[in-house]
Order: sequence, then structure tokens, then C-alpha cells
Amino acid sequence: MIPFDYAPASDTGSAVATVMARPGAAFLGGGTNLVDHMKLGVASPGLLVDVTRLPLDRIEELPDGGLRIGATVRNSDLAAHPYVRRRYPVLSQALLAGASGQLRNAATTAGNLLQRTRCPYFQDVTTPCNKREPGTGCAAIGGWNRNHAVLGASEHCVAVHPSDMAVAMSALDAVVIVLGEDGERRIPLREFHRLPGSSPELDTVIAHGELVTSVELPPPPAGARSGYRKVRERASFAFALVSVAAVVVTDGARVSDARIAFGGLAHKPWRATQAEEALRGTTATDEAFREAADAELRHAEPLPGNGFKIPMTRNTLAALLRELATEERS
Ligand SMILES: Cc1cc2nc3c(=O)[nH]c(=O)nc-3n(C[C@H](O)[C@H](O)[C@H](O)COP(=O)(O)OP(=O)(O)OC[C@H]3O[C@@H](n4cnc5c(N)ncnc54)[C@H](O)[C@@H]3O)c2cc1C
Ligand code: SF4
Repeated sequence: MIPFDYAPASDTGSAVATVMARPGAAFLGGGTNLVDHMKLGVASPGLLVDVTRLPLDRIEELPDGGLRIGATVRNSDLAAHPYVRRRYPVLSQALLAGASGQLRNAATTAGNLLQRTRCPYFQDVTTPCNKREPGTGCAAIGGWNRNHAVLGASEHCVAVHPSDMAVAMSALDAVVIVLGEDGERRIPLREFHRLPGSSPELDTVIAHGELVTSVELPPPPAGARSGYRKVRERASFAFALVSVAAVVVTDGARVSDARIAFGGLAHKPWRATQAEEALRGTTATDEAFREAADAELRHAEPLPGNGFKIPMTRNTLAALLRELATEERS
């Protein structure tokens, strides 16, 4: 075993200062991802600063009708919260589609956003991987790439982001609040995760030692319906091959607003702005839903093993939109 130090954080400022002062230090949430990586030899932090006792475990309604979710709120508590179930069903459904009951009881909001890819080569230290060890190559390109990216990938990495929750948060226009040495900053979730480019080792735009303190959701648009649909190998306890989060407003048979994000397709939750644009103002028909999917997917570049993700995404988006549009009218 590689030795490491452990320190429970007592306040947010000293948690940030402690991690910033030590290059090999990391924050510890529920540990369901980081501790696994330590066991596999993928991560070896010299110090774990446990943030789970910080007062960041509240879910608060905001005066404008939005919601603030503390960084250490457990995935199960967030999924079950009555306000989330009523106002943000897409978020509750996405959380419940992820992992297992036991894992959701331990996993935190910040840890879920910052979990690392499930690319099997990333988790296998005997194989080349630019994300785990920059400059070594990518075993997935030319290897087993059924689960990998079809949008926004690079010649250096074709991994996908694994979080279901983050896909829903992207469609909800969430904002991540982080605390660093110079105080707080607010990062729209759409800009929080990175595409791989030439530095796939960086998953997000936050710096070493920046602490996620909360995530804020704006109020959902008036009259919106939302939902999450995930396609996976098994009915539970499996990551998404493809997933779709949608927030839709219809006006009679016309789609007046749509916010859509895809999971399982890219290195980050993929906000499908071109599909949204294609949908706004159209009549809610299956044909329009499929055309909207194609507007986004025409940029897709499948790998030899994952071309199936394109029709699967088109069908999943159309099925979810059909369900939401029908709910709206009934
Ligand atoms: C078998 C299995 C199946 C799973 N299936 C799914 C699935 O289908 N869908 C899905 O979405 N997820 C799935 N997961 C992943 C699971 O959701 C994540 O492991 C979990 O959400 C991570 O949260 P955590 O609090 O345990 O994070 P940790 O493991 O504690 O931390 C993860 C990362 O976040 C950092 N971190 C933690 N808190 C903070 C903070 N406040 N500020 C800054 N950095 C922080 C840590 O340093 C670490 O880098 C699965 C996991 C397993 C083991
Ligand atoms: S896809 Fe990314 S994470 Fe997977 S082996 Fe290639 S570089 Fe590593």
C-alpha cells in the first residue's frame, strides 16, 4: 500500500489552503471514485482532506425559485428531495439512473461532478493512456472503443464523461460555485468540464485546490416538463451507452423552448444546442424530433466500435421528447 495522510477539514478556507499547499493533496468526498483509483494505482494522493463534515450538506430553495445544492449533499438525498422531484424531475431521474442505492448513499454532488472516466484503459495501469499518464498514447484508439466518444474527441483521447447527474445539470443551466485562494467564482456547468484536446489529463477548468462548495439551479422555465432517459447494458448498475436529458416547453402542439444534453457521447456532458435550435418553433412530431437529433449528430465522428451510438441517440431523444410532449398536452 502507498502511504497517505488523512485530515478531516473543519472549515472551507483551511480546506482550500491545505490542498493548495501540497501538490499531491486531494479533497475526499464519499470516496467511491477516488478510493477505487487509489486501490488501482491510478491515483496516489499524499494527503486526503475529507470535506464531508463541512457545512455544505444543505439543499436550499432560492428566493427566485431556483435551488442551491451543497457540495456534500448525497446523491440519494438529492434524488429524493421533494422540491427536486417536483420542479426538476430530470435531475431526480438522472441521479436514480446512476450507480446503485449503496453508492448513491455515499456519493456527493461535487464528487459526482468530478468523477473520472470509466475508460477501461484509464483504469488499467499496464496500458498506455494520455489521461492517466500524459504523452504515453491512447490504447482505446485502435482498441476496444464501444463505450467511447463520438462528439468532441481528439487524437489524444476518446473517453466519455461518466456522470448522469451532470448531464441533467447541463440541461438545467446549472452553475458550479468554487472557492479558491482568491475567493469564490461561478462557472456555468456547460463550461465546467473540458473537451480533451491535447491535454486530456485535465477534466475540468478548476485548478488544484479549488473546492466545489455548491451547485445552483435557476428556476425551470414556466410550464416546463423534463425527463432523463438512459440506455445501458443492464437495467441497473451500469454506465450510460447513451443518455438524454431534456427540458421542454410546448405551446399547444408547438415546441416553444427546449434544453437538451447528451451523456455517453463526449468527454463532457454535451449540451445539444443545435438540436435545441432546430426544435424551437417546430410542431412536436416524431419527424421534427429526429431532425433535431440529426442537426446535432451530423458532427459525430464514430470510432470503429461505436457507430451504433448515433441511431441510438436519435431514437432515445425522439422517444423522450415524444413522452414529454404527450405529457404536456394530456
Ligand atoms: C460500480 C459503480 C457504478 C457506478 N455507476 C454510475 C452510474 O451509472 N452513473 C454515474 O453517474 N455514476 C456512477 N458511478 C460513479 C459514482 O456516482 C461516483 O463514484 C460518485 O458520484 C463520486 O462521488 P464521491 O463523493 O464518492 O467522490 P470521491 O470519490 O470522494 O471524489 C471524486 C473526485 O472529486 C473530488 N472532490 C470531491 N469533493 C470535492 C469538492 N467538494 N471540491 C473539489 N473536489 C472534490 C475528489 O478529489 C476526487 O477527485 C458508479 C460508481 C461505481 C463504483
Ligand atoms: S480514451 Fe482517454 S482515457 Fe481512454 S485510453 Fe485513451 S487517453 Fe486514456
